[in-house]
Amino acid sequence: MDCIFCKIVEGSVPSRKVFENERILAFHDIQPAAPVHILIIPKAHIPTMNDVAAEHDALMAEIFTVARQIAAEQGIAESGYRLVNNCNADGGQVVYHLHLHLLGGRKLGAVTG
Ligand code: AMP
Ligand code: ZN
Repeated sequence: MDCIFCKIVEGSVPSRKVFENERILAFHDIQPAAPVHILIIPKAHIPTMNDVAAEHDALMAEIFTVARQIAAEQGIAESGYRLVNNCNADGGQVVYHLHLHLLGGRKLGAVTG
């Protein structure tokens, strides 16, 4: 499958990993928009937020747990951060493998783009 994030999961495309377990991978965004910009993804290829189903409830909860842990490790838990999911064209999604952006380390602008 021609999915850049699946290739990162497989290891055929390199990444700067910050977390990995059997289900979830987190790595630095290649074009950081903030001092901390980490992508948290399920290893399974779920294209968009619209494809998340009840069977993914535990996985989604774990992704948020991992996000909290990484925010603490990166030292931005108290200063603050943003978790972003872009869904489909109007949401600005470019990579169609579900991911959360963890952004922090500076004062972020308004949510609305
Ligand atoms: P989105 O617009 O939510 O689909 O964001 C996709 C993100 O993936 C962008 O912030 C890109 O900079 C990032 N990205 C694309 N390719 C790579 C890569 N090979 N390694 C790390 N981040 C990437
Ligand atoms: Zn994928």
